[in-house]
Amino acid sequence: MKVLMLGLDGATFTLLDPLVRSGVMPYLGSVIENGVRANLMSTRNPLTPPAWTSMTTGRRPEAHGIYDFLRPVTMKDGGVFLKVNDFRDNHCEPLWSIVNRGGKRATSLNFYGMSPPPQIDGYIISGFVPWRHLKHGTHPKSLFDDVRAMPEFDYRDLGMDISEEKKCVQGLHDGEHVDWIELQDRRDTAWAQLTAHLLTTDPTELTAVVLDGPDKVQHLFWRFVDPELMKGDDDTWYHQIRAVCLDYYRGLDRNIQKMMEAAGPDTDVILCSDHGFGPTTEIFYVNEWLARAGYLTWSNAAEDDSVGQLTADKIKDHLGMIQWQATKAFCPTPSSNAIYIKKDLGSGNGVKEDEYLDFVLKLQRELLELRDPANGEKIVLGADLNKLRGTSFVEPCPDITLRLRDGGFVSILKSSEIVTQRPEPDGTHRPAGIFIGHGPSFRKGGSIEALNLLDVAPLILTLLDLPVPSDFEGRLPTEALADKREAVTGGATQSHHVAEEDRDEPSEEEREALMKQLKILGYMD
Ligand SMILES: [Zn+2]
Repeated sequence: MKVLMLGLDGATFTLLDPLVRSGVMPYLGSVIENGVRANLMSTRNPLTPPAWTSMTTGRRPEAHGIYDFLRPVTMKDGGVFLKVNDFRDNHCEPLWSIVNRGGKRATSLNFYGMSPPPQIDGYIISGFVPWRHLKHGTHPKSLFDDVRAMPEFDYRDLGMDISEEKKCVQGLHDGEHVDWIELQDRRDTAWAQLTAHLLTTDPTELTAVVLDGPDKVQHLFWRFVDPELMKGDDDTWYHQIRAVCLDYYRGLDRNIQKMMEAAGPDTDVILCSDHGFGPTTEIFYVNEWLARAGYLTWSNAAEDDSVGQLTADKIKDHLGMIQWQATKAFCPTPSSNAIYIKKDLGSGNGVKEDEYLDFVLKLQRELLELRDPANGEKIVLGADLNKLRGTSFVEPCPDITLRLRDGGFVSILKSSEIVTQRPEPDGTHRPAGIFIGHGPSFRKGGSIEALNLLDVAPLILTLLDLPVPSDFEGRLPTEALADKREAVTGGATQSHHVAEEDRDEPSEEEREALMKQLKILGYMD
């Protein structure tokens, strides 16, 4: 029995259902009709790094330690800087290794944070790697040479090509957005071709792949694809762009078909996404609010966010915008949607351990009481305290995770206002992703109650006739299966920790490429 896990980053039924109904994605339509579907609820902060890491380790972010693309590190002098997360920061065992320990092989393609790759029996190419560094993110190394020699696609399309993407995005209003959308189709197609190639030449028991195109297209072009935001026929430019976006989804449909046909009808297929998507219309300046409430002090280098934009260079230095010795709480990145409390670990500034609980509860209360000056409505709908969930005082994890009324990401910039409107609606993440089970083990037709993305790992192991580790935090969704089946629990996962002093940081080039990618996706506003 084989399993194919097809990850569609950011896919949401609110978009896919209308695309199926209008005939843009006929293959997906038949998969849904012959399979079982559910919403798949994401991690507390519905973001690519924590969500895929939780889905593929069966553990919450509090266990694996991946909350964001970057993590703030407090220095001895009380200053803070940002480090890039990679596989060495993931404390939990990935599915690929668990499958190996059960005597089976696995393939993992384009998952966030799989570089440097673990030495598994099977294949890994990490996602979010610049193409120049792709070999470092590939295991075994011979796979890289095979991939480079493949005639069906240019191997560079598997990696990030920032110069290419940046060129397209800079010209976003000059007609080059078409190139950018087509680039996403080309990248997805390269991954789909490689997946189909491995499925036919050397299939492993588990094959898992992520296509990240949907997330990227939706971040930049949400208002062109959301049926709710559709403009009238007289706006020809709008409808031209919309047509190019629809072509992207036609290509996505073909890519899904290509991989599922290569896997064959006897394979159980799980189509899933790490989070959903929706519109965002406003910007909440969380650090500005913290400054006005007396928790954060801007440095003289800080400038007002006059245009609502933050360049990659600026984010590199943006921590210089904060005067650390006079700051007790801050938000390090928009994508974190979180407040970190600066702890006094001996520097003499920050919050001490015995003051912590009172401090964080007061801050939480003030956030939840925060009102929009314009209409008196609440801006923050949720402010979850992560520290009360078993992580220690010193552990570098977000202290308060925010859920905004707008569903969007915060801005970390200085501003003349706490909340402003975006000129046009943008795409942003939502908690409800997609789950579709298709194949011999799944029910045929119908939908079931929402699942949690932590349920995917126990499902995959059960489909492979492997025991589910006792420390997994999800459950086996038996209601998705055609026959009554119970999970066999056995053993625990193997955690791994890499000491800070034993590791090299990702190269400056990799760091810069990641920053620019985040900028393009709108994570730096
Ligand atoms: Zn994502």
